[in-house]
Amino acid sequence: MHDLELIGVGKTYPDGTVAVQDFDLQVGSGEFVAFLGPSGCGKSTTLRMIAGFEEITHGRIMIKGRDVSRTPPEKRPTSMIFQNYALFPHMNVRDNIGFGLDVKGLAKREKDAKVDRILDMFGLTEFADRPADRLSGGQRQRIALARGLVVEPEILLLDEPLGALDANLRRIIQNELKLLQRELGITFVFVTHAQSEALGLSDRVVVMSDGVVEQISTPTELYRRPASAFVADFIGANAIFEGRGLRRDGASALLDTALGEIRAPWRDGIDPAQGLLAVVPAEAMRIDAADAVPVAGRTRLSGALSGQQVVGATGHFKVRLTDGREVVVEGRDDALAGRALATGDPVTLSFAQESVTLVPPR
Ligand code: ADP
Repeated sequence: MHDLELIGVGKTYPDGTVAVQDFDLQVGSGEFVAFLGPSGCGKSTTLRMIAGFEEITHGRIMIKGRDVSRTPPEKRPTSMIFQNYALFPHMNVRDNIGFGLDVKGLAKREKDAKVDRILDMFGLTEFADRPADRLSGGQRQRIALARGLVVEPEILLLDEPLGALDANLRRIIQNELKLLQRELGITFVFVTHAQSEALGLSDRVVVMSDGVVEQISTPTELYRRPASAFVADFIGANAIFEGRGLRRDGASALLDTALGEIRAPWRDGIDPAQGLLAVVPAEAMRIDAADAVPVAGRTRLSGALSGQQVVGATGHFKVRLTDGREVVVEGRDDALAGRALATGDPVTLSFAQESVTLVPPR
């Protein structure tokens, strides 16, 4: 049984805006899932539908095998953390945290015990009597988390919970969040438009665009095997080559591009009729002097080194290809060290076929 299951969930707002279409997702117990996508793609709407703050137009939402599609928010085993934390500014920390338990009608003694325990866990005991508006952003963030967790939800829903914090605090709380999630084993569903946050924190990422799910996979898979042109463009720093014709050569596909043939793993179901894109991650490419001995089996494209920047052990390089486009290559500095290449030098850009993914154009 899944902790959370969305089956064909859709949302059309009364004004006709189609915010979410046909959303299917299964989340396992204790999983950390992020919804990632540009502003307006339907992430918050989906989260609010899971919480019950927004009615669904189509489909069903199941939590632990129970259909909660029409269940009011306070009767769902979920808690939501809002971006602005939605704390009561003049209420003290203790009452803010206890608020959800009041709503549930818990007896005072039981409530106090639960609140004390969570204050202790979050290191907030010494602030218990202070009004929420006299605390720092990081402390308010912790109170919001404590308030969400004190009701012991099956699923914690987080809507851009780090959005209001500065970069430093963001990193600290990111780590805390991940540790907390592991420790409690609670299922987390997290909305963000920040790629690094989604990829760094979650077990799986749901990439959305324009109300549609583009891909659901692990962060590594998103990098290595983007499922669509949108994902290839949105995640990481991929080189994307437009292809025209496709030929099969055993287990390989040979895509004809303006720069020459690109070799990729053959995949059943790829349809060259609309054209195809070959996607190559920035860290899968390598740069060699144009006159270097070629490595067998790699696709080779000619160009000139147009930029290089080495920071610590990693380098960011740029290669201007013969069609004028610039491709970004990321690698260890040994990708270039010892070869003494200077900006402007003719080079060969190469990559192994396994690193290439063919996707349909947008
Ligand atoms: P995200 O969280 O990815 O930024 P939202 O879920 O907030 O996206 O919004 C998805 C789409 O639905 C957007 O086009 C947005 O303008 C629209 N939308 C959000 N809330 C409402 C509403 N209450 N009424 C009408 N349209 C809305």
